[in-house]
Amino acid sequence: MPQVNLRSGNATAIMAAPTFTPDEAEFLDNLRRFVAEEVLPCTRTWEEARAFPDEIWPRLGQLGVLAMTLPTELGGTGYSCGTYCEACREIARGDPALAMNIAAINALCVAHFVNFASDEQRAKYLPGIVRGEIKLAWGLTEPDAGSDARRVKTRATPIEGRDGYYHLNGQKMFITNGGKAELIIIVARTSETELSAFFLESAQPGFKLERRIHTVGVSASNTVQFALKDAVGWHTPCTFEQAIGLLYRGRLGIAGMALGIAEKAFELAVEYSKQREQFNRRLCDMQSVQNMIADSAMEIEAARLLLQNAYRLYDQGKSIIKEASFAKLYASETANRVTNRAIQIHGGRGMTPDHLVEKLWRDAKLTEIGEGCSEIQRLVIAKQVLR
Ligand SMILES: Cc1cc2nc3c(=O)[nH]c(=O)nc-3n(C[C@H](O)[C@H](O)[C@H](O)COP(=O)(O)OP(=O)(O)OC[C@H]3O[C@@H](n4cnc5c(N)ncnc54)[C@H](O)[C@@H]3O)c2cc1C
Repeated sequence: MPQVNLRSGNATAIMAAPTFTPDEAEFLDNLRRFVAEEVLPCTRTWEEARAFPDEIWPRLGQLGVLAMTLPTELGGTGYSCGTYCEACREIARGDPALAMNIAAINALCVAHFVNFASDEQRAKYLPGIVRGEIKLAWGLTEPDAGSDARRVKTRATPIEGRDGYYHLNGQKMFITNGGKAELIIIVARTSETELSAFFLESAQPGFKLERRIHTVGVSASNTVQFALKDAVGWHTPCTFEQAIGLLYRGRLGIAGMALGIAEKAFELAVEYSKQREQFNRRLCDMQSVQNMIADSAMEIEAARLLLQNAYRLYDQGKSIIKEASFAKLYASETANRVTNRAIQIHGGRGMTPDHLVEKLWRDAKLTEIGEGCSEIQRLVIAKQVLR
């Protein structure tokens, strides 16, 4: 297939620019336009409403965002991991909370269908998912099972006479889109030692939404806690390790999100530093401000290269366990440092809602926690290095 080059921000690296098929390049171009015209202008409104508008889902379906990682034979576009990461990055430049949802939907939920669902399950749900009519969520975390995900207590018990169906009992916490999703993938315990995953339709009496969790950043995202009381789940046979293995590519989506946040905050800080004058000179002419700009530029470049390296390896079918953690860890810590410096450059104004940098700073925090906190990423890297 012919390949086209896509600009990688203001990258100056000698490493070849990532290549995308013409379809992927067109998809990313359309997405960039959508973000500039329909996402960025709404980011504050969505945050204030603590919600995305319902119309966003069919619109995302129309743009192909919900099926970008789904192979063509299953009704998707089968784009590369690189395209998925660049899409998360582009969306984060407009609204990080939306990027977080898109990352989870593609890498965790849709990928679950690709890897573990039966033909019957795919036929039932995938067409609605691709069109944005069936919203998705991924439920692993529980009050007592966070970083130590193996501690999941939610129990799955086979329902007599209903092959493949289980009763699910337990509680899930911090589930993105969990109060809106029609279909939730639940990780649950099938025995003392085994865990697996189940499709759960939320419109049933056994699903009890307990509370909306309001977070300091990414607050337009519907983060919830819910309980399952004899809820009916449809088994998607897979081991715990297989289900959790989806997080490797998932981490690249969060790295893309972090990179998008850092780039946007950096652009705003540079622009502001060229306009604001104190002591009869522009901020950008002061060496201390230049130091902050230089450090941010360098770290963004390094994060971009780590991300590109990881998604290239994934697209070549290679293992990315260590590289995904490199990219996620570095990009998320970069996003936090760069947004912090962006506020510093804006001074007092940077702490007010008049400037987007304060929101980007709050949104950036999630990238150091979700899909494995920074400490877990360091553990993964050390384990790979020392084995
Ligand atoms: C906005 C948001 C959206 C989320 N969306 C989802 C979702 O859609 N689905 C889902 O299943 N989960 C989701 N999560 C949960 C997220 O994955 C967990 O918050 C994360 O894995 C950390 O778990 P925890 O919050 O229980 O922190 P804990 O596991 O209690 O850890 C707290 C802190 O302890 C330290 N720590 C923990 N373990 C270690 C260790 N081994 N070594 C060193 N330090 C350690 C770290 O500093 C860590 O930040 C979401 C969370 C948030 C905030």
